[in-house]
Amino acid sequence: MTDAIRIAPGKSLRDTDVLVLGGGPAATWAAVSAAEAGASVILSDKGWLGTSGATAPSNTGTWCVPPGDDRSQVVDRRWARTAGVADRRWMARTVDQSYRGLLRLADWGYPFPRDENGNVYIANLRGPDYMRFMRARVLAAKVTVLDHHPALELWSDGTSVTGASGLIRPEGQDWTIRARAVVLATGGCAFFERTSGAAGLTGDGLLMAAEAGAALSGMEFTGKYTLAPYGSSVNKGLPFRWASFYHADGRPLLNSKGEHMTNGIGGGSEGELARALIAGPVYARLDQCEPALQDWLRRGQPNVMQPYDRQGIDPFRDIFRVELKPEGTVRGIGGLRVATDDCGTDVPGLYVAGDAASREDVAGGLSGGGAINSSWAIASGYWAGRGAAAHARRGPARSRFRSQSAPLGQAGLRPRSDAAVDVTSVIAAVREEMAPLHKNFVRSEVTLKARLSRLDALWEKVQSGLAADGPARLRAREAAAALSAARFSLTAARTRTESRGMHRRSDFPAEAPGPVRRYPLTGPDEIGPAPEAVAQHEVAS
Ligand SMILES: Cc1cc2nc3c(=O)[nH]c(=O)nc-3n(C[C@H](O)[C@H](O)[C@H](O)COP(=O)(O)OP(=O)(O)OC[C@H]3O[C@@H](n4cnc5c(N)ncnc54)[C@H](O)[C@@H]3O)c2cc1C
Repeated sequence: MTDAIRIAPGKSLRDTDVLVLGGGPAATWAAVSAAEAGASVILSDKGWLGTSGATAPSNTGTWCVPPGDDRSQVVDRRWARTAGVADRRWMARTVDQSYRGLLRLADWGYPFPRDENGNVYIANLRGPDYMRFMRARVLAAKVTVLDHHPALELWSDGTSVTGASGLIRPEGQDWTIRARAVVLATGGCAFFERTSGAAGLTGDGLLMAAEAGAALSGMEFTGKYTLAPYGSSVNKGLPFRWASFYHADGRPLLNSKGEHMTNGIGGGSEGELARALIAGPVYARLDQCEPALQDWLRRGQPNVMQPYDRQGIDPFRDIFRVELKPEGTVRGIGGLRVATDDCGTDVPGLYVAGDAASREDVAGGLSGGGAINSSWAIASGYWAGRGAAAHARRGPARSRFRSQSAPLGQAGLRPRSDAAVDVTSVIAAVREEMAPLHKNFVRSEVTLKARLSRLDALWEKVQSGLAADGPARLRAREAAAALSAARFSLTAARTRTESRGMHRRSDFPAEAPGPVRRYPLTGPDEIGPAPEAVAQHEVAS
């Protein structure tokens, strides 16, 4: 197996057919599929491919449905849980392509577990070994891997995206890669919430693509929060399926029906828990978890137990304080609009995969965490890689894309004046407006307007004066990207004047009657409806 390389300082310009930005599952599937389609491929990750992103520290269940007559029924049943936003055709093709991907993993020798009868169980992927395995597959496919090479901006020749530039960490030197097609697989935006795997997920790809003219969609569906032990970064919801909830003094916490609240990840408990947590501290005990299950939890996901072990808490016996962690678009839904079946965006030469894409087509207005997102990462990665490779084959001669291209990055990279802006104040403002439960779980026009006007004013300052040198350029660009994603989210939330899925409005508490709409937006400066023909796209269902 060849190993990853680094671009030597002073030799930072390279050419490739397909450039994949990102290092999670979507990026790895895209890189392998582009290489298998005959393209030369470079993969450039902000972190270290195999350990970065939301999957690497997690255990991801997939939407694993074998072929057969009842597949369409499974899709129909799941569609009924998408708040009417998803598209059955996309759901069906995602189920199909991701199932093929799971079978390929088995063929490649990924060590899926077996049951007592020796049957291979392929529905679940253990993040750390899945991503280590995918790193090896990427390298075996002769993809050039650039670890710790975050992208900062895209390049364009005025028609197509033609490459990207970024930083070599930790030195802070530049790299530029000219590519005939680019796949954005930079994950979601966690708005600087430090949950496992999400610290580097700041929506960089969304800003880069918006600067190139791509539309974002589903950005109102960012009201997703998951339970975690208070003060911990481990936001894995599964143990809370067996939780009961309490006040600090040990009295049972009651729901609106006067019953003791149990099960923190199902049965519509999220809203009740959010209300209780806005009112005051909430405690939990995993007292519905049988001893056999306790053992299974410990063995299946060792890091789930770490926060308790570190604090000397026995979560099955003691009560412990909990919080709801905001997840932005990581377990939320919004991202770049997918415009073509091979995951092309609205911009020629730019493809998207995984959480960087809007998952409205497959998960609708509800979270895709738990099954859909990981299957989408496999399927969209495969399609985007193929699409990018095909675009590269059709693309212009290298001489043309070399001579005519220019970089597109603005906010956080190329300030318009000398008025300095402190990056930490930008990050703080984004967190203050996007993280708190009382602001973002349930929204209203009055609060949305106030939040958005603060962030719009900040955006003007960022455009004018946010800049940094050397390695600090990454933080500046991340701050600009998360601020941009927040503005898209709040604008979309104001536009959807109804409650639907993860988008809850106190002033419009019900779903609007009539056809379900989507609200794609372009920006990043003036954020407004995407072009007429697609702006009020009715969902095919
Ligand atoms: C705790 C947790 C549990 C989950 N469990 C499930 C589950 O059971 N089932 C399920 O379906 N989904 C689950 N999910 C969601 C799932 O993990 C994601 O949908 C999946 O990781 C998305 O893959 P991705 O490759 O798009 O993004 P990620 O895995 O997040 O990877 C994004 C990559 O982009 C890189 N990157 C970011 N910015 C840049 C840049 N500027 N330049 C270059 N690279 C960049 C990052 O370093 C990272 O490698 C879970 C998520 C969490 C947080």
